[in-house]
Amino acid sequence: MPVRMFDVIVVGTGAGGGTAMKVLCEAGLSVCAINSGPRTDPAKDYRQHRQVYDLKYRGYGNPLRLKGKAHQEPYSVEESEYSEGRDLFEHDVAYSNAPGTDWYWKRCKATGGKANFWGRSSARIGDIDFKAADLDGFGENWPVDYAEIAQWFTKAERYMGVASTVQNRPSNPDGEYLPQIPWRCIDYIIQKGAEKIGLPYLPDRCAQLTVAHNGHPACHYCGNCTRGCDVGAFFNPTWFTIPEAEATKNLTLLTNALVRSVIVDQDGTAKGVAYVDRSTRREVEVYARVVVLAASCVETAHIMLNSKSRHWPTGIANSSGQLGRNLCDHLYANPGYGYLPRLLGQPATPDNIADSTVGWMPRWQNLKNPHEEKFIRGYAVYIGGGCGDFPWYYNQIEGFGAEYKRNIKRYYPTPISSYIQAPTLPSPTNYVDIDPDKKDIFGIPQLRFHFQWGPNELLMWEHCKQMMSDLFKAMGAEMWGLDSEPNRPGTSLHETGVCRMGANPKTSVTNKWAQTHDVPNLYICDASVFPTQTDKTTTMPLVAFAMRTCDYIAENFKRGVHRRA
Ligand SMILES: Cc1cc2nc3c(=O)[nH]c(=O)nc-3n(C[C@H](O)[C@H](O)[C@H](O)COP(=O)(O)OP(=O)(O)OC[C@H]3O[C@@H](n4cnc5c(N)ncnc54)[C@H](O)[C@@H]3O)c2cc1C
Ligand code: SF4
Repeated sequence: MPVRMFDVIVVGTGAGGGTAMKVLCEAGLSVCAINSGPRTDPAKDYRQHRQVYDLKYRGYGNPLRLKGKAHQEPYSVEESEYSEGRDLFEHDVAYSNAPGTDWYWKRCKATGGKANFWGRSSARIGDIDFKAADLDGFGENWPVDYAEIAQWFTKAERYMGVASTVQNRPSNPDGEYLPQIPWRCIDYIIQKGAEKIGLPYLPDRCAQLTVAHNGHPACHYCGNCTRGCDVGAFFNPTWFTIPEAEATKNLTLLTNALVRSVIVDQDGTAKGVAYVDRSTRREVEVYARVVVLAASCVETAHIMLNSKSRHWPTGIANSSGQLGRNLCDHLYANPGYGYLPRLLGQPATPDNIADSTVGWMPRWQNLKNPHEEKFIRGYAVYIGGGCGDFPWYYNQIEGFGAEYKRNIKRYYPTPISSYIQAPTLPSPTNYVDIDPDKKDIFGIPQLRFHFQWGPNELLMWEHCKQMMSDLFKAMGAEMWGLDSEPNRPGTSLHETGVCRMGANPKTSVTNKWAQTHDVPNLYICDASVFPTQTDKTTTMPLVAFAMRTCDYIAENFKRGVHRRA
């Protein structure tokens, strides 16, 4: 069989991989994008406009659907009967948790990945994050600073379309924004309460199109974004990057192809990848001059750790021993939910408009002095509310029959709830490795997680509970309750760090361009290269870094550093 050689292989088609394939295809390079699951079809896979009574299992899905699968838990909000129809989520590839670890690894294997269903919060990272080690003396700085990266954030925001306002916050550099998502009555009430106790409540930075943008329509506020947007009114690869890469005619897209390893040449450089064709279970090899891994953070490390050869006995590009290390996450938990009595009995309006965050509380701790609080760095809080389609507070209200239903309606516009987003610090005990004993059904050695919450993020959690108690009082809200403990690690879907970038090849996996120190034709385009977690979400930053890395790759082809196929 003649062997086709590509300029670049991109593994993964989500936020990072989709961006990589678009930039590289538009630069005129031949790209083979490889995706582990099926192609997402918005017409069939996004069913957000249906009502639960239209669905056979009332939104919960077929209870026997995951019987016999390696990973049998459904994946919270994004996986329900609304999106499960064509097997979009990964339940066949098993993973392990080391004793004492309870990592919840949620994966979307369809093209576009988790970015089909993401929450869209999109803040810039600043020098307070890039240079945090200089400020508080803990860990390592990033090998870049804000002055260098700002233009890429601008590029990413211009492309994705991010709605917000200029806020002049020391922890949150401002960007270029579409008009903010309109505020609701509850947002003004929350803001007034927050102001009373000196806390910020401001429009979130949300990659949701409040006006038509780059050929995509404006949002019509149907409010079910985490089931996928059937008109493409928020940034996601299915509507944005994948069709744009295809339009160049430089893209070959392979689906249902689960990459197991990077294969190497005589000299240890990347030659291509080996994948398992899910339909035939055959192993296939594809070749390229450059390989870009964007399989979503820990899966990128999984592929690299499984890429063992005589050159790379502990996994490709792992001469530093840092591959799989420095796993960070966001501690997520609800530090307070309740209701606003002053809204009781008000008419219900469909104001759960973004199905996500309209406003947020950007980091307000340790801004003047990095050691002001008992913890270092800081966290953010998201506050939700409005009339959602299901009254989640039903179990907070006592009663029975018609009276109970009347009460549910009376409370409809009143509930509010909050979420802390607290970054973990890198720790030598938080990492992924390969389980020495277990393989998945395709014969691929499984990834194993080792992870515990650390004292710093647990102090943030305690602090936040007190802050929310104060805020509820200041808003005149009644608190129904709060989480007794943090959500399981992995819940946030914002993991970072397992292939960290750095200037020193002895202590990092890639350089500041996300090019591995050891293997110059192997690059990474996901959040695994972020050396630390911050109080911000990861997707817009990883799109910005992927744009920068791929411009660098294209430049390297032009300069002859990489030869064309
Ligand atoms: C409900 C929800 C809410 C979220 N909210 C936010 C938010 O508000 N802000 C934010 O910044 N982020 C949010 N996220 C996280 C966001 O979705 C991720 O940060 C982002 O999608 C990561 O991009 P990625 O390209 O690394 O991974 P993904 O988008 O998951 O894409 C990974 C791709 O790699 C493919 N792949 C994986 N393994 C292999 C393999 N072995 N071989 C071949 N292909 C492979 C997958 O099929 C997939 O296409 C949210 C996610 C969800 C689901
Ligand atoms: S609220 Fe807007 S972005 Fe979300 S699914 Fe509806 S139209 Fe799409």
